[in-house]
Amino acid sequence: MIPLSVPHLAGNEWTYLKDCLDTGWVSSVGSYVDRFEQAVANYTGAAYAVATSSGTAALHIALLLAGVRPNDLVLLPDITFVAPANAVRYLGADPLLIDVEAGSFQLDLSLLESFLDRETYLKEGVCYHVPTERPIRAVLPVHVLGNLTDMNRLLTIAQAHGIQVVEDASEALGSWLGGQHAGTFGRLGCLSFNGNKIITTGGGGMLLTNDADLARRAKHLTTQAKASADDYYHDEVGYNYRLVNVLAALGVAQMEQLPNFIQQKKTITRLYDAAFASQATLFRQTVAEDVAPNGWLYAVRVPAARELIATLRQQAIEARPLWVPMHTLPAFRSGPFVTERAVSNLLHQTVVCLPSSSGTPPDVIRYVADCVLAALTLRS
Ligand SMILES: *Cc1c(COP(=O)(O)O)cnc(C)c1O
Repeated sequence: MIPLSVPHLAGNEWTYLKDCLDTGWVSSVGSYVDRFEQAVANYTGAAYAVATSSGTAALHIALLLAGVRPNDLVLLPDITFVAPANAVRYLGADPLLIDVEAGSFQLDLSLLESFLDRETYLKEGVCYHVPTERPIRAVLPVHVLGNLTDMNRLLTIAQAHGIQVVEDASEALGSWLGGQHAGTFGRLGCLSFNGNKIITTGGGGMLLTNDADLARRAKHLTTQAKASADDYYHDEVGYNYRLVNVLAALGVAQMEQLPNFIQQKKTITRLYDAAFASQATLFRQTVAEDVAPNGWLYAVRVPAARELIATLRQQAIEARPLWVPMHTLPAFRSGPFVTERAVSNLLHQTVVCLPSSSGTPPDVIRYVADCVLAALTLRS
């Protein structure tokens, strides 16, 4: 099987893991956690980085720190991995789903803006949703497939409406907009190091912020709100969301290889783009001029995703659709909180993600592209 996106462990992973085992520093304290946080902070330009046990944990804490409380609403794209929608629910809040753009697959900011102008009002600095009278506390853009939401425009919109911005940059480590890294535009940004991401620690995540106080609070909350080093005194409800040293050791080794992974992903993007360039019925994800995406996962829009995925599977090629829109999932469909759904439904039916693992040889990518064209009977 040619896999969609698998871990690429080609550097110092063994050496650093062995070091953890040899020295006994395997758990929640150890030098690799600090080194990993420092490496990610240096790379992204974030002033602070706080490692967590998963990307979902990072999202949970980021939303908590952005002030999301029970009964609040949080604006989310209808097309996303489920993690941010779940994180909103962990806080007793509800997602308010906004449709996405058909070209970029990102949150539709024009729709968001007209929704906010039409259905909300600002009172004492807080944005209220007119139909429900509930506060809209935050907006959480998801940088889908390593492409970026237009963050400068979103920040302007959010500021005008008194809304906090928390970024889900889980898929966007190594993606930049105008020279600024994904996840560093909002008050807080979140990364994931799950097995299918551009770098992996097996499981893990990271919170990014430029605010020293938020970073300190994030460290505190992810460490059971432990107030003193030797005493069992905890000054509020905390969480056991730390990343352990053995996994951080993998992260340090992976960060050393990130520039190389991105280079390889860019080559994969170029190869697919070249193969599909002349096909008017194959739509590729549109990328704004000032965006340098990490190329995490290559996707095309075709007439019917399901059929193409089945055909590729018969040829031992793993391909996947884009997520089921959040408004159709049992946990979220009862919310009255969805604007439009035409594009999210369309993307679910038509987008196919293709094998993009950073170790994939060029001929394999050419072979996959050829199979795609053959399946769509477009091969010349
Ligand atoms: C991977 C991912 C996450 C976080 O997943 P974890 O497995 O908890 O690290 C969150 N949002 C998006 C969009 C993702 O792709």
